[in-house]
Amino acid sequence: MNVKTQILKRFGFSQYRPLQEEAIDALQAGQDVLLAAPTGGGKSLVYQVAGLMRSGMAVIVSPLLSLMSQQVVALEKKGIRAKFLNSTLNINEQEDLAWSLHRQHIDLLYLSPEKLMQPSVMRFLQSIDIALFAIDEAHCIAQWGGYFRPEYSQLGQLRDLFPNVPTIALTGTVDRDTIQTIQQTLQLVSPLVLRSSFDRSNIQLNIAQKRKAKQQILYFLHHEVAGETGIIYCRSKKKTEEIATWIRELGLPCLHYHAGMTEEQKQSNHKTFSSQHGVIMVATTAYGMGIDISHIRFVVHLDLPSSPEAYFQEVGRAGRDGEPAKALLLYGLQDMLQAQQLLHAQGQHTENTQVVIGKKNPQQLLNSLFQILEGRGCRRQNLLSHFDEVIDACGNCDRCLANSTEQNMTIASQKLLSLIYHTKGVQPFSLLIQVLLGKKTKSVVAANAQALSLFSKGKELTESQWKAVVRHLIAFQFISVQSQYGFTVHINEKARSILRGEHQVIITTERFYPTLNEDCLAS
Ligand code: ADP
Ligand code: ZN
Repeated sequence: MNVKTQILKRFGFSQYRPLQEEAIDALQAGQDVLLAAPTGGGKSLVYQVAGLMRSGMAVIVSPLLSLMSQQVVALEKKGIRAKFLNSTLNINEQEDLAWSLHRQHIDLLYLSPEKLMQPSVMRFLQSIDIALFAIDEAHCIAQWGGYFRPEYSQLGQLRDLFPNVPTIALTGTVDRDTIQTIQQTLQLVSPLVLRSSFDRSNIQLNIAQKRKAKQQILYFLHHEVAGETGIIYCRSKKKTEEIATWIRELGLPCLHYHAGMTEEQKQSNHKTFSSQHGVIMVATTAYGMGIDISHIRFVVHLDLPSSPEAYFQEVGRAGRDGEPAKALLLYGLQDMLQAQQLLHAQGQHTENTQVVIGKKNPQQLLNSLFQILEGRGCRRQNLLSHFDEVIDACGNCDRCLANSTEQNMTIASQKLLSLIYHTKGVQPFSLLIQVLLGKKTKSVVAANAQALSLFSKGKELTESQWKAVVRHLIAFQFISVQSQYGFTVHINEKARSILRGEHQVIITTERFYPTLNEDCLAS
């Protein structure tokens, strides 16, 4: 048995996954590596094994303290000499650590970029033998434009100070632009770039319209994932608590997690969730990065994520053991409008802190998310194409599993667009739909909208079909919504092609979740 296989055994595994060996071999030969693989792809093992194989101590830079302490504990259990250098260590612990480091009693040292860039730490590292540098979550370099964590963008200095130490940059979900930014910032020298497929085919992707969300959740929890461990993501702290309370009242074991809780509460809830089976965690996205729990079987989104990246990462927390898992996202027109509104509000107040992934700004990312939700065909194809990956129809998403059908909504779109035009874009979609359906509601009468020539000219569609048309036109930017200074809808230049009949609007027929079978309907 060679050394590489022996070391793998110490981690309790029998075989390397694709790309792990290639990356380890390159590092072993002193070459820089850039490894892009989805969360749960097994990236950590690469620098851990390579760190043990090369002489000297491996230095691992990671943005999250909780992630580092978790990894160190897991490594220590396996008898691997790993330590975590953080500012929360007291003087004695720091002295102990310095002593062990000098005596070469440590193989893997974890620290944050801020800690690493401290001059004293840097000087100290220059006095010992370093096996490699591993920069985990390297997309943080490109994200935030280095605004929140400026030390991330200074990591390129390592190349000057340690010219002979190989660096491996590891990153989760990214596009080619981000990979390039990482490469340049870290001054990687002709790195081996490994990009594994981002497909997590074991996770069934389900996206459905939100209607009576609680009943939908109830059905999902009872009929699809009964007794399993999973996360339900909500946008606000308040909603997180409300949903958790409701689920507990149903008699199911449920915890919650958000940034407004004390450190102790958060730790305790995380600990219970990660150590027990069958617990449901209702959380904001504060519960996220770095969670390595292999038995999460489902992820539900009760609110829209902010980008395809966020969606992908959150969904990817399920099924890390490779076994089947389920994802369910519920949303509606209202959620899209809210997400858009939230972005406008944020944009006004915190221009500098906007999350910029690669070269895309938050608005472009939200548009991409909308297009994934509203696009035709396989969900996974649509999602992965955002990450520049082309796959066949997956067979494991709501679209592939249901033989979905499509409808031509070009004429409906023309009606809607002209109605927006005639009402000068100031009327909410709910009113426009009432007009098309010929409903003389209070708001229709108040706006004298029953006098419009299009009044009751859209009865061939149901209300939910009209909403689908609106969502499609927003997602593919035929119209855009402004909510900053009162609600207004703009018809974009692009929409002319629909009005002229040059562009056909094809929409996938909506399926309800849960799907009631014929028996249920009959009884
Ligand atoms: P990443 O850092 O890419 O998000 P991790 O390194 O945390 O992924 O690995 C995800 C999971 O896969 C972990 O539970 C890890 O123990 C497991 N794993 C990694 N490599 C292997 C392997 N070669 N064989 C089996 N399991 C592995
Ligand atoms: Zn599919």
